[in-house]
Amino acid sequence: MEIKVVRRIMEMNEQHAEVVRQRLREAGVVALNLIGAPGSGKTSLIECAIRELKHEVGIGVIEGDPDTTRDAERIAQLDVPVVQINTEGGCHLEATMVLRALDEMNLNGLDLLFIENVGNLVCPVVFDLGETHRVAVVSTAEGHDKPAKYPALFRTAQVTVLNKVDLLPYLDFNEPQFVTDVRKLNPDMPILRVSCRTGEGLADWIRWLLQARLTMR
Ligand code: MG
Ligand code: ZN
Repeated sequence: MEIKVVRRIMEMNEQHAEVVRQRLREAGVVALNLIGAPGSGKTSLIECAIRELKHEVGIGVIEGDPDTTRDAERIAQLDVPVVQINTEGGCHLEATMVLRALDEMNLNGLDLLFIENVGNLVCPVVFDLGETHRVAVVSTAEGHDKPAKYPALFRTAQVTVLNKVDLLPYLDFNEPQFVTDVRKLNPDMPILRVSCRTGEGLADWIRWLLQARLTMR
């Protein structure tokens, strides 16, 4: 009985994800689903990208959060369209929520749509949001064992951002082990070393985004 219900939820999500994908394709918008733990720096990565790119690239943001509108307020200060989804305690976004958010957003003139998922490394992975690319965000402070412990995220992502590399001197983060574990799951995926605080590696993030933007044309 229960299994049937779960299957129906996933089927519905697949259908809604397909509608999202179709709508984005028609509008020529590339969508990025950012998945990472709370505090991994998802919002900061989006902010950096907006600051660098907003004059040449049309950017919109969908912010998923269990509660507050704090991240959406940060994004709104940068003067790009942002829609907040409050999951009311829910631990992941579903395609139907993105679909409703798209109704609130004018896709004309947009090239890139950032979707910041709820901070969580587990269930966001199984819900297709109709995104073009999936971005795995990990900060060095979380430890190097995350790819080994949460393999599904790294298997299904198109890029991994290792954030907060400025903290490496203070941590026991084993970077070669991290890279080896990611490579085992996804041999060709780029791993970008970034610090939003010092600006290290941000050029690589921006370059990757500009490349990603071309994938739908
Ligand atoms: Mg955030
Ligand atoms: Zn969840």
